[in-house]
Amino acid sequence: MGFEEADTMPQSSLPTVPQYAASVANYCASRHPDAEGALVISVVPESPADDLGIEPGMRVLSVNGHELTDMIVWLWETDDLEADLEVFDPRDNTVARATIERFPGEEWGVEFDGAVFDGMRTCVNACIFCFMNMLPKESRDSLSIRDDDYRLSFLQGNFVTLTNMSDAEVDDAIGKMLSPMNVSLHAINPECRRKLIGRNAPRGIEVLERFLDAGIEIHAQIVLCPGINDGDELLATLEYVEQHPGITSLAIVPLGFTKHQKRFTTSYSDDVEGSRAVVKLLEPFQERARATRGCTVFQLADEFYVDAELDVPPAETYDGFPQFYDGIGMLRSFLDEVEELRCSHMDDVERVGEYLSQRDASVIVVCGEAAQRTFDAFCALFSSNAQVLTQAIKNEYFGGNVNVTGLICACDLLAQLPEDLSSAIVLIPEVIYNYDGLTLDGETREFVERSLAARGACVKTCVSSPYKMLDELGE
Ligand code: SF4
Repeated sequence: MGFEEADTMPQSSLPTVPQYAASVANYCASRHPDAEGALVISVVPESPADDLGIEPGMRVLSVNGHELTDMIVWLWETDDLEADLEVFDPRDNTVARATIERFPGEEWGVEFDGAVFDGMRTCVNACIFCFMNMLPKESRDSLSIRDDDYRLSFLQGNFVTLTNMSDAEVDDAIGKMLSPMNVSLHAINPECRRKLIGRNAPRGIEVLERFLDAGIEIHAQIVLCPGINDGDELLATLEYVEQHPGITSLAIVPLGFTKHQKRFTTSYSDDVEGSRAVVKLLEPFQERARATRGCTVFQLADEFYVDAELDVPPAETYDGFPQFYDGIGMLRSFLDEVEELRCSHMDDVERVGEYLSQRDASVIVVCGEAAQRTFDAFCALFSSNAQVLTQAIKNEYFGGNVNVTGLICACDLLAQLPEDLSSAIVLIPEVIYNYDGLTLDGETREFVERSLAARGACVKTCVSSPYKMLDELGE
């Protein structure tokens, strides 16, 4: 053990909730009171962490005298060749201090449990379109955590409103140049913003502008709600973005609503003309951005093109897909992969098709209603002998206008697939499961696969990429 001294762990380990300037609403920290510092979950053998005697289960409490509250502190403080650590060992309830050292280019060799260690910052907003307020009553608790943590915006790309940041946190983020950040903008007009996200809305713009002035790059997002922040309000927001080149991409996603609320009954999903009007409104901004900045900047979610019954734009207009995981360009990327398979890998497709025919297997490619036409393009690669067909699952669990693949629930999947699945291969998109292998209605992947196997299905689960899907079918 490379530690030099040991103290008994102080027992008063209640979380410290930061104090804020008067203009900033407080937020809740979801930290567990017994959990100080960062929990070590793995250590690479013969790494600097291993050499020092750090083991899984220990907690790193501080680095260079700074409390280890998140991975930003870790990355910032351990950027050099050595750092002073305080480590808690739960086996004998002691805290030891030591200096960890490494060679240039060497990794520290320690992995922590998560990215923030002092509790997720939760939001202080009351967004009228908040999906958390539209969940069925029986939804599991973890689904309704309203995280709004600027640190996760930088570390993981989560969208945040910035409304809960204190001046000290803003200064710290600027001092460390946490860039880029993903920010929910929604509207620029103060009245409209207040209507959309509540009384803390002004703080979000104040912080956003400080970030922009400091040179922090912003990826912004708008949830477009018909009759609220569209039309002239949207125009004003687009003009604001146009005047702020530090906002390098803007994603506009349509309002989604479930049947478990009363405020919304309609959105772009049942308004072809309304969706086309949004596509049209964006065009001059996109053209100007391409002419002056060499990139499109203003992007619409795939759903808008589906709702507008228009083809999704070509890949080169997506600027390298900076907001892919926000549903911007996923359909284009899928269609282009299908095209690549058609042009360059038809021998592989035919081989898989032949294999399926020999097995006398039919293939059911599961997807959400919004993506069915796109997934059909993959199925069309196969000759009719192979029987590869999509099945769009209607989302009854959430209801409303929820129709995307990522929100398919186990109850709908199991209710809508045929009872008799003998000789069927069911290809399930991996995105319906979370990191823990749970669907949104709380069923395990194992349960889903077992239930379908009991009906005779051969179940395969993979990411929604035509290459991966083809590989999966050929195995
Ligand atoms: S910031 Fe996010 S979590 Fe908070 S109310 Fe708005 S949509 Fe919901």
